[in-house]
Amino acid sequence: MAKIIAVNAGSSSLKFQLLEMPSQDALVSGVVERIGMEDAIFSIKFGEQKVKEVCPILDHEVAVNMLLEALTKYEIISSLEEIDAVGHRVVHGGEKYAQSVIITDEVEKEIEALSSLAPLHNPANLIGYRAFKKNLNVGHVAVFDTAFHQTMAPEIFLYPIPYEMYTKYGIRKYGFHGTSHYYVSKTAIEFLGNPAESKIITCHLGNGASICAVKNGVSVNTSMGFTPLAGVMMGTRSGDIDPSIVPFLVEKMGVTAQEVGDILNKKSGMLGIYEKSNDARDIEDGLNANDARAELTLAMYADRIVQTVGGYIAQLGGVDAIVFTAGIGENGAIFRQAVCDRLKGAFNIDMDTEANKVRSGEPRDVSTATSSAKILVIPTDEELVIVQDTVKLLNI
Ligand code: ADP
Repeated sequence: MAKIIAVNAGSSSLKFQLLEMPSQDALVSGVVERIGMEDAIFSIKFGEQKVKEVCPILDHEVAVNMLLEALTKYEIISSLEEIDAVGHRVVHGGEKYAQSVIITDEVEKEIEALSSLAPLHNPANLIGYRAFKKNLNVGHVAVFDTAFHQTMAPEIFLYPIPYEMYTKYGIRKYGFHGTSHYYVSKTAIEFLGNPAESKIITCHLGNGASICAVKNGVSVNTSMGFTPLAGVMMGTRSGDIDPSIVPFLVEKMGVTAQEVGDILNKKSGMLGIYEKSNDARDIEDGLNANDARAELTLAMYADRIVQTVGGYIAQLGGVDAIVFTAGIGENGAIFRQAVCDRLKGAFNIDMDTEANKVRSGEPRDVSTATSSAKILVIPTDEELVIVQDTVKLLNI
């Protein structure tokens, strides 16, 4: 059996899973948080065991070394020789990568060059890659968040701004969460019995959120855009707003455009409206206590999803299944219900309220028998896609 590590390196965090293939068993999963700090947190889970350590982890290389040491220390593997490959999540593949790719020196340079489009993400992804490369003499594969959406047509991915903004600066809709949209749409198509033609709308609702229209297995539209700030309302991100708000606030508040960008990325969305928290569980508590602001937050959140889903139903010419995934999509029954309640009148998409309330980690159908489309809850598994692509590309 092959053993592959899936890595998701952020600027101050590193998430990882070691999967055995082809069984898909997760031997260990974990996360290193607060990298760069004296009180960084290293947590791993394997079998029934959980280990958490708070200690100084000053850079990603130290984090990777700790992880690799832990693998043998806790006898998860007997030697590092057992690791066959590493798959890395890379946020931005630009127009260059419509598929995952083996990382060569040239690919590394391309990912670096694409940092201008994802200055917070691609450099962090590369730091993770370099740290693993130093320690493990195996093949490495990059799996891009943008790749799945490279099938969008120009009339969908272009913005109605001067065309040379696209040719000169690469300004267009790229879309993100592609690995997740790919995985859950593929699972949904299997759920439908693998029909030759299918129209699926996937709602990835986590801290970041995006919606994707998938026709016959291919992404034809998605709500995030040039950056992950666009689209629906999110935990702390505004999603789409009137762009004139930016220069207006620059002038009114006497701040830079960058600072307004920070407000839109970090202080908006559910946090901006609810004010007390961006965590959907806290908003649920507020709803249970009849807090008016929590109700407004939910209404705004659901409304934006419904506008997007409704538009995608028109673009697809119908819909066979609507899929909910990620933290809120998988767990937030109230959020799913609020979205589907608003879709019912126009589209007869009908949620089975009782089935929707049942908690489960399994893919499931929560629509009624008479609903015009299936409503599916499908736990996402981006790590599995990363590992599958790694195995495929490296012929493991
Ligand atoms: P990301 O990967 O984008 O950081 P996740 O997919 O983990 O995010 O989703 C995080 C969101 O999921 C948070 O808003 C959190 O409140 C929400 N969430 C997690 N568990 C639950 C739950 N049981 N009920 C409602 N929301 C939940």
